[in-house]
Amino acid sequence: MTRITIAKGDGIGPEIMDATLAILKAAGAQFETDEIEVGEKVYLKGNTSGISAESWDIIRRNKVFLKAPITTPQGGGYKSLNVSTRKFLGLYANVRPCRSFHPYIKTKHPVMDLVIVRENEEDLYAGIEHQQTDEVVQCLKLISRPGCEKIVRYAFEYAKQQNRKKVTCFTKDNIMKQTDGLFHEVFNEIAAEYPDIENEHWIVDIGAAKVADTPEAFDVIVMPNLYGDVISDIAAQITGSVGLAGSSNIGEECAMFEAIHGSAPLIAGQNVANPSGLLQGAILMLTHIGQNEVAEKVQNAWLKTIEDGTHTADIYKEGTSKEKVGTKEFAEAVIANLGQKPKELKTVKYSGDSAMVLPKYTRKPALDKKLVGVDLFAHWRGTNPEEIAAMLHKIETNGLALSMITNRGIKVYPHGFSETFCTDHWRCRFKPTNGREVRPQDIIDLMQSAANGGIEVVKTENLYAFNGKDAFSLGQGQ
Ligand code: NAD
Repeated sequence: MTRITIAKGDGIGPEIMDATLAILKAAGAQFETDEIEVGEKVYLKGNTSGISAESWDIIRRNKVFLKAPITTPQGGGYKSLNVSTRKFLGLYANVRPCRSFHPYIKTKHPVMDLVIVRENEEDLYAGIEHQQTDEVVQCLKLISRPGCEKIVRYAFEYAKQQNRKKVTCFTKDNIMKQTDGLFHEVFNEIAAEYPDIENEHWIVDIGAAKVADTPEAFDVIVMPNLYGDVISDIAAQITGSVGLAGSSNIGEECAMFEAIHGSAPLIAGQNVANPSGLLQGAILMLTHIGQNEVAEKVQNAWLKTIEDGTHTADIYKEGTSKEKVGTKEFAEAVIANLGQKPKELKTVKYSGDSAMVLPKYTRKPALDKKLVGVDLFAHWRGTNPEEIAAMLHKIETNGLALSMITNRGIKVYPHGFSETFCTDHWRCRFKPTNGREVRPQDIIDLMQSAANGGIEVVKTENLYAFNGKDAFSLGQGQ
């Protein structure tokens, strides 16, 4: 029997967890629970992470974690438990189904039923930021092949298990040819392994606009972290109620399931909260552990309850709703509907009773890697590119010659435009004049020469070719 870890959390957490567990048990879900304490009480005992070492042990042993919302106290250096859980447990996929329930829940998008699969560990969220000059700060956007392969494969496996027909990829690879380019390339590679599932790619800006305007055009959408963060909130909002959505966070070893809303402290303890968000998280959990039949039964009973007009206060509407109920009574109504199906809302059907099988990433054979140049990033307070170019030409050594200068990515030397605004942050590209391979010592010599020549180098970036192909961006206008 599967053992899962549960945390009842804060605010409305305990009520909605009790309601959710009652429904799962009544539906015949097969699991036992270990309860841990996380959140406000733990934070206020002086533990800034909101969770004890023993609780981590239980989560790691059971591997499946159903978590009610928690309150993160303001100020005081408290760390978000959600972020820590995702990072420590390597929960690389955030999955958020966004479905509308027209005409029972008011929405501008009556036939919307999509799932956002968001990469959850890398991209601009690695938190690697530096101020380099008076005027310029940077944030590193890291995209890895394992990261892309894991998330894209998850999206296709999820689509297969849930009988979904299409997986769409959103990137901005027309601009970020290396990072988003890799994500798109891996998407194409993995899509080819799933010939029964349609696939397509959209540039994220027009894709996001399309989600907001015509969400019915999408089924499963997979995307890097930042785009997923923004678009998953838009998608949840336009279903008509964020209070009804659950999400899962999936790793190679562990997984966490939750509602997307918070602990709603103002309505806590009053038996008015809607348990549907956490219940949707729990349904995702059931499909994750392979209890698809029970998941289906719970989902269809819940749809029937919504359709019956048995609604909690947050979704109750004169005219559409029939009965305003509390948290417990809502759960009882879902339990009474177990085994039944909705008449108008689409029923769900998952394929078979099996957990998803996701192969672990295996490292690919090493690529042929060649050092072909270097970018020196200089802090220089002048404004005329010709002046810094003259200084840089003087520091050339070992046949490494200045080939280009860009300022915020725009080529300003040679042949720049006088109109281009320049900050104090200059990327200065050096390449060998005879096309030979660069040695690490050449770069060390160039750095020494820069220091001698009064150039302040704030960062260097090696330029590589992999398997004979240059793997770095050109200057805009180059
Ligand atoms: P919230 O989601 O708790 O509440 C926003 C609004 O929605 C409130 O009016 C609330 O009453 C209502 N609401 C939310 N869930 C509801 C439900 N199930 N039934 C009926 N109404 C519901 O967001 P907030 O007020 O910004 O945050 C409150 C606390 O929750 C904060 O401490 C925040 O840090 C925390 N939070 C936790 C999580 C999490 O644990 N995953 C997520 C978001 C916020």
